[in-house]
Amino acid sequence: MSKRMSDFSIARRRMVDRQLRGRGITDPRVIEAMLKVPRHKFVEEAFASQAYSDYPLPIGERQTISQPFIVAAMSEALQLQGNEKVLEVGTGSGYQAAVLALLADQVFSLERISSLARRARLVLNQNGFSKVNIRVTDGTYGWDDEAPFDGIVVTAGAPEIPETYLQQLAIGGRLVIPVGDRNSQILKRVTRLPAGDYRTESLLDCRFVPLVGDKGWEG
Ligand code: SAM
Repeated sequence: MSKRMSDFSIARRRMVDRQLRGRGITDPRVIEAMLKVPRHKFVEEAFASQAYSDYPLPIGERQTISQPFIVAAMSEALQLQGNEKVLEVGTGSGYQAAVLALLADQVFSLERISSLARRARLVLNQNGFSKVNIRVTDGTYGWDDEAPFDGIVVTAGAPEIPETYLQQLAIGGRLVIPVGDRNSQILKRVTRLPAGDYRTESLLDCRFVPLVGDKGWEG
């Protein structure tokens, strides 16, 4: 392993120990996935040395790759076992999709900005995550052709929960979504119960870029 590669894997292990285990992430599959995915490949070269730092980073188009802890927390909240079909809304850099690819059977991801989707597609393919399916569209409509999903994770902040996501959840499936105003949100988990009921839990405070679309914020 080159010196640079080994520096990155040391930084990744430290990130997992301090930022994830240190803050209560316990799911061993999530820990394993976060140890495996080379986060530095999902950011521009100029930010590679900060890829394992405890904050989000710019990825262009005024968008961000989320802080490692929030990626882990959202992944853990989905409670995946490995056989699920999962939808992500907000592909961004493709990093969260790569983590999901190690945690679930099938991964679908929607992005509204085509240049980000194109770059994510390239990086995912180059790093062994070609099973992720990406579509460029307004993700507030979900992905009707592929529904139902065992998990839906929305990586942008919504003013309210779009009805489409609730409809596209399988019975027993989990939707993880930040809901609030443009500057701060609460991460919610909605579980679809039998007989058309839903259970909603508030998990943590967070701050995401806005979910822009017909059933989200105006651009
Ligand atoms: N999950 C990403 C990652 O791992 O890099 C980070 C996502 S970034 C915080 C939010 C992303 O959501 C941006 O790329 C933004 O363009 C996208 N987005 C916002 N509104 C959207 C919508 N209606 N449909 C699809 N993507 C959307």
